[in-house]
This record gives sequence, C-alpha cells and structure tokens, in this order.
Amino acid sequence: MAVGSRLVTAHEDLHRDLTQRVLIHRRRFLGMLAAGGGALVLGACSSDDEGRSGSGRDEGDATTTAPEGTTTTPEVPAADGIDADPFLLGVSSGDPLPSSVILWTRLVTDLVDRTGFGGLGETDHQVLWEMATDDSFAVIVASGIESAPAEFGHSVHVDASGLASDTWYAYRFRIGDYTSPVGRTRTTPADDATPDQLKIAFASCQVRQAGWWTSYEHLVAGEPDLVLFLGDYIYEYPGGEGDQAIPLETEPVTLADYRVLYAAYQRDRSIQAAHGAAPWIVTWDDHEAENNYAAGIAENEADQDGFADRRRAAYQAYYEHLPLRVTPPAADGSLELYRSVRYGTLAEFFVLDGRQYRSDQVCGDKLAINRNACPEIDGPDSTMLGAEQEAWLTKGLAETDATWKVLAQQTVMKALVLGDIVLNVDQWDGYPAARSRLLTTIDESQLANVVVLTGDIHAGGAANIRLPDAGAEGKIVAHELVCPGISSEGIGALGEALDLSTIGLTYANFADNGYVRATITPERWTTEFMVVDTIAEPAASIRVDGAVEITAGTPGMRSI
Ligand code: FE
Ligand code: CA
Repeated sequence: MAVGSRLVTAHEDLHRDLTQRVLIHRRRFLGMLAAGGGALVLGACSSDDEGRSGSGRDEGDATTTAPEGTTTTPEVPAADGIDADPFLLGVSSGDPLPSSVILWTRLVTDLVDRTGFGGLGETDHQVLWEMATDDSFAVIVASGIESAPAEFGHSVHVDASGLASDTWYAYRFRIGDYTSPVGRTRTTPADDATPDQLKIAFASCQVRQAGWWTSYEHLVAGEPDLVLFLGDYIYEYPGGEGDQAIPLETEPVTLADYRVLYAAYQRDRSIQAAHGAAPWIVTWDDHEAENNYAAGIAENEADQDGFADRRRAAYQAYYEHLPLRVTPPAADGSLELYRSVRYGTLAEFFVLDGRQYRSDQVCGDKLAINRNACPEIDGPDSTMLGAEQEAWLTKGLAETDATWKVLAQQTVMKALVLGDIVLNVDQWDGYPAARSRLLTTIDESQLANVVVLTGDIHAGGAANIRLPDAGAEGKIVAHELVCPGISSEGIGALGEALDLSTIGLTYANFADNGYVRATITPERWTTEFMVVDTIAEPAASIRVDGAVEITAGTPGMRSI
C-alpha cells in the first residue's frame, strides 16, 4: 500500500476512540518505516565498533558495555502508575556526531492534560533505550537506562555514544510493557572523512490549524540522510478544529500551556514518521515563543509584563520536545541553541539563533517601511545574532575546511527592497549593519561555497547574495535557499507585488506549501523545491516546482 493511501486510511481511523487510535497509529508507523526499508539500508557496525556504548552521561544513568558484539541489555524499568501507552508523541533523534547521536522521546498518556504532566503526574520515570543494526532489534549494539524526569515533562534526551561513524541505526524506547515506535538515525562521517554525497531535506513553518502536513510523507519517501527544521515548529495560536484543534483557549503563557501545545503538534503521525526517518537538526524562529519577539522584548508593549517568564517557559518546552544536544535552559531562562554539525570534509552546518540575541526591530516592526522615514534602520549597533554568537560564527567560518559552509537559520538574508520600501524589517533587511558585517567577513575570508538555508517567510525562493547590501548588483558571496511553509499560508499578494527582475531571485513561489531537498557532493549542490498540491486533505501529490544548482568553487546559482 502506498504511503499516501495509508495516511488516508489513518485519517479515517481518527474518529475512533483514543485507545484504538493509539494502537492503529503505532502499527501504521511501524508499517511505514518497514515499507521504506527496501532502499534505505541500515548499515551494519564493523566488529571493532559493535557493542561499544555510551560513556560520559551523568547522573548515574546505566549503560551497557558489550564487547565482541554481545550485549547485556538492562532490565526494562517498571511503568509504575502508567496504565496506557506513554509513547503518543513518537520518537526522534538529532544533532549527530561521528560516534553519537541524541535520542529523544517524551512520555505522555494524556494529550490534553492541562497540568502539563501528560497524564503522568509529578512522578519521575526511567526508560530503557536500545539501538540496533536494523528494525528487528536482533542485534542490539547499544542500550541503557535514561531518566524521564517530571521536571522536564518526562522528556528523555539520550546521548547515545560509542557508535560507528557514518552508520544507520534503529532505535526505540521501552518502559514496562510498552515499546515505542522504531526510529532510524545516522551518525555523521568521521571529521576527516571525504563523503561522496549527503542528501538533506529542510522545512519550516507548520501552523497546525492551517491544514495537513502533506509534505512529510514525501520527505520520508525521499530518504534524506538529515532533516533540518528552520523555525516556527509550533505557533502560539489556540483554536483549530478536529484533529488540528489546539486544546487551549488563549495563547500559551505557562510551561504547562506550551507542553499541551507541543503535544497537539507532535501527536501527528506524519511528523512522527519524519522524525523517525533520519536525524534532525533544528533551530527556532519567533513562534516557538511569540510572533516577532526580539530577545527579551515582546511583540506588543502591552504584553511585556511577564514576557520573561513566558519566554522561559517557551524555551524550556522547546528543549523538552526536540532532540537537542544543548545544555538545558539556564537559570536566567536563556537556552544556548547555536552550534555546528560537521559532515566530514563535505559540509559544516552552522545552526544559528537569530531570535534570542537580536536588537529590537526598528520603526515599530511594521511591514513596508520607507527607509527615508526610518533612519534608525542603519544604526551601526544593530545585531541579529548578538556579539558572542557573531564572534563564534566568524571564527567557525574562518577555521572550517569543509567544502560547503552552510548557515541553517531563520529569516531571509537576501534584500527584499523595492526602491526605498523595505518590505519586512523582521528579517535581515531590518539589520543591514549586521548583515554587512557577516557578508564582509565571508568576502574578506575568501570563503567559497557559502549556502544560507532559510525559513520564516512561507515562500520558496533561491537567490545569490551579493555585496554590498545583498541586492541584485555586486559580487556574489553566498547563496540563499528559502523553503516554503509546511502548512503556514503563503505570502500571496505581497509576493505578487514583488518585481523579481529588480530583486534578482533565481526562483520564487509565494503561494504553495512544501519543503526543499538537496543533494550535496564535493562538486555541486543541487536543490529541488518540492510543492504539494494541497494541505486540505491528509495526503497530497507532490511535484518539483523548481531546481537550482551551485557548482563548488564557482560563485552563483543557476536554474536547472
Ligand atoms: Fe512562520
Ligand atoms: Ca517566523
């Protein structure tokens, strides 16, 4: 059965009672993974690597040591007080390294529990995690016990280490009689390896109430090695109907609210399948906390009181629900999210946080600002990344020897300016001094093959980024690829008002939903903009709406 029709059938199942639904969901999830297994071969560990397992985890979490391929899997922890399947949110993995990867789940039995404890109360739990060479789990190569503390909403973050590089693994969690869906993940190549190819997919902007996430079944079918999510993973909006209803009456403010919101998003089986298909590298934009906030400044002044607490709750919930290799939120409510991930000498991904440290948007953060009436836009102190992150990025770009230097980030860097009218000062156009510093750094360091991945704007796009001001004229210093929204509405009329010829876009689609996939080799970077026919139905067909190519060592992209 095609994945699409399976999703349709699954949709019909949603009208059954919750218990029934969960059982069906898990069968279908497993079936979907199994169905995709023909071409996506799980790599076997070499005997040298087999069985080595995690070290260095703190807080006394037990890990097996399994020399010579034999394993001693710890006993499955008891599910004390848990009387229903706690794996309603699926599993995921992310932030891979050559010898380790983060494995994630969150125990929830009640998706609408407004206490924020997912039906589990304030009791801490433990889970067994297992990694194997394939979905049968006949050969378990790593396993251990990890905590699922109530303090973090019973989320589990395992740093599964001692793995072989550049290798596919299956993983799952167990507690009592319950076993999670099976996910697949892949370690990165060794730092000095020279991979022939890397297949990535990237996406952003999935407002739940807008429709079905019909892109994900196609993303899974494309068998990416890596998925990047570039922000607006959730939106802070209540409301919605049926399967897309958010069980909140108002926008989330407390940690409990945000947990309920995430559960309403992550219960979706299509995103669970996508999480289970490959490691993810994620960053956030604004809606993970609130539309268009900037650092500690709320969107609207009226909401400033209490915004620090709201942002703290939002940041903790983000940490709790994604497979992040980062330190949990600090006492001051900050979360250091920026980091880099390397794929041998082929590519290094610099994952940026353009939200937490930025200066406030200029001139009231209005759309279509005349720059002559907004002199503060050119303020030299404007910052998108903050001084510390900017210095980290400058250093990282100067030091990397990877062929492709990739900035995985939120908002559009290319200038979208018509005459004196700056269309959106929430993106890099509102921070010209900061953008100029970054582009000048790239130019002065003579960096080749810089690619910027962007979300936020709900439109697909591709453009060369040029000095001095990212406009249509000048020296090409980087290449920007913007993904359409998974389900957020396109920018339609605004997009049609843009005169593409003066702005210099290689590709644009302002209307459709979808995602982007790219094949990266030492010689070239090939990008396909994938567009779904509809998000009004649970399944849709997809087409390649446009494709662009960059040749390594030759600045500039071309349509293919
Ligand atoms: Fe968005
Ligand atoms: Ca956004």
